Amino acid sequence: MSRRTSVERPGAREWVPDEPDERSLAEGIQVCRGCELYRDATQGVPGQGPVDAAVMALGEQPGDQEDRQGIPFVGPAGRLLDRACEEAGLDPSVVYRTNAVKHFRFDPGRAGKRIHKRPGRVHVTACGPWLVAELDLVRPRGVLVLGATAGGAVFGPSFRIGESRGRPLEWPADGIGSEWSPSWVVATAHPSAVLRSRERDRDYARLVADLELATSLLSGAARPPAVSADRAASRPGSSPG
Ligand code: SF4
Repeated sequence: MSRRTSVERPGAREWVPDEPDERSLAEGIQVCRGCELYRDATQGVPGQGPVDAAVMALGEQPGDQEDRQGIPFVGPAGRLLDRACEEAGLDPSVVYRTNAVKHFRFDPGRAGKRIHKRPGRVHVTACGPWLVAELDLVRPRGVLVLGATAGGAVFGPSFRIGESRGRPLEWPADGIGSEWSPSWVVATAHPSAVLRSRERDRDYARLVADLELATSLLSGAARPPAVSADRAASRPGSSPG
């Protein structure tokens, strides 16, 4: 008779320092036991970039290379994102890069290969306190949501990239628990989806176009979404994008 083993997922909250800085966040993620994903991963992968970055790029989870090196977006998808940012005029030095889930989820493949496995809603929820802490630390003017998992982390499970890209989005009214509310969100495909696409050129061009929108929002050439007076008043220290 098979016995189902229960998985403990208390969530990351108890591992998040009270007043985190970049270093204590990174150290806390390494010892986090908020869900089971730490068990098989090499290490946790915290966000990286300037802590006063104007933009936060939010992906799904570390990939194979990111897991080995402990740095987000260093694999093929990260290199594609770099190229797209360059083409879109988005200065990499103003971008803080992170993921909705900080440990790599995978299935074992042949010959030691590790096959990416999309994190579940339960993992995104468990890991959410780290994203909240990063948002409150960096306080970005805008967030680039890369793919459905990142979109779900911000807007909930009904979020769809196809319905949401191509225009600036407002940070959700109920937020994700952060004190900081970015002025705008731009949703686009995850660069790994572009790499896998059969219509790679078309999808790469769409990625660049979305990043150009973020560049325009940063420069003031495009306007962020209008925010209700109530919400604007409730934004601590928020400045127009
Ligand atoms: S994935 Fe997130 S919640 Fe789970 S152990 Fe890693 S840091 Fe903690």
